Amino acid sequence: MNVFSKERLLKDVMQCSKIEGIDPLDVAERLSKMAAIGVTPEGGITRYPYTKEEREVKEVFRGWMESIGLEVHVDPIGNLFGRLIGENPELPVVMTGSHLDTVPNGGAFDGALGCLSSLMAIEAIIKQGLKPQRTIELAVFVDEEGARFKNGIFGSRAMMGEVTAEQLKNFSDADGITLEEAMKEQGYLPGQILLGKRRAEDIFAFLELHIEQGKILENEEKNIGIVNGIAGPSWRTFTFLGNTDHAGNTPMHMRKDTVTAAAEFILGVEKLPRTFSPTAVATVGRMNVFPNGTNIIAGKTEVVVDARDIHVDKRDELLEAITQLAHEIAQARELEVKVESGISIPPVMVPDSIQSMIARAAERHGLSTRTLPSGAGHDAMILGKYVPSGMIFVPSHKGKSHSPEEWTSLPDCVNGIVVMKEVLFELANQN
Ligand SMILES: [Zn+2]
Repeated sequence: MNVFSKERLLKDVMQCSKIEGIDPLDVAERLSKMAAIGVTPEGGITRYPYTKEEREVKEVFRGWMESIGLEVHVDPIGNLFGRLIGENPELPVVMTGSHLDTVPNGGAFDGALGCLSSLMAIEAIIKQGLKPQRTIELAVFVDEEGARFKNGIFGSRAMMGEVTAEQLKNFSDADGITLEEAMKEQGYLPGQILLGKRRAEDIFAFLELHIEQGKILENEEKNIGIVNGIAGPSWRTFTFLGNTDHAGNTPMHMRKDTVTAAAEFILGVEKLPRTFSPTAVATVGRMNVFPNGTNIIAGKTEVVVDARDIHVDKRDELLEAITQLAHEIAQARELEVKVESGISIPPVMVPDSIQSMIARAAERHGLSTRTLPSGAGHDAMILGKYVPSGMIFVPSHKGKSHSPEEWTSLPDCVNGIVVMKEVLFELANQN
């Protein structure tokens, strides 16, 4: 499988940033090699956690880590680590990495490019003969996507001690296999999950490269995205309750229609975020209509709102305004509305010092930058709760992600690796 077209490859290579120790052909070859594992008939990639495909890609990746001389180990639940030992190994480490699992029929870059960038940045440090003071540790986290057990960003949460062995019994895949069983099947030791826990004070900083999964960088023709914060999602379900009646025999003025209430509500939700913060977003991606019949006025409609911002106070104010709106609409239409809170993950801010390190590194290599929030959750969102964490974004073609159309050009991939290398080395030499 070729992630980059063969015909264009040489032209692409010519356009890549030149930096000692990073061969763009290696980037292309390694991304293609990973993309061939778990390939689907639709041309996408499916690599669920704790499967043959995920094991295979991790083995390939482990081989690359060993080939550049990293000290490799695996924790009890399958997080994979490779260390470049620093001149002062007793100092807290600089950690970097991402994930190699995918969503069903996903793309070749989400996660994989992050892991590869960390690897190749470390490789360049080694090849340039640089000696970092701190140990640089590459982490490949298991089950970031949550596609199989609906329990995402799992590996990084487990590493920070947020998951107990007992909780592993509570998550099952579509075949009823629990997370615990799936781990055991692959030879891991779920009962010892806490032995893999790392102390925040042993990690100096964390850095992750990821595809943007949006269109901002491409539209503005910027090379590098400097993430200023990772927006944590907060979900709320609004259930409008009215009367279920016949569509033919109920005059318009006698109806208590919950679908029209939901429609008014959703349009209102769309307008609210911009009045709170330029980075706030709110989405209705899911609604359920009961009984959902063509000739029945629906007596019950559930609307699920996903609200995000990098500023937690603004996000929570936005959710309150959305809730207020639901009550107002229900009251005006003489309906009832029930409100239930779902997950709520705090956003994480990226320290200014890391943002400016990324900016300076890009500038040194003549790369343009754009500061932007990450709307999606990443392993860095978990690490960021405990240690200073930063993210480098590279452009996503047409903003496509979680699909076979996901694509980032080879020069953009190499640009990201160059910046990653510079920032990792700078962090590794900080006091
Ligand atoms: Zn990802």
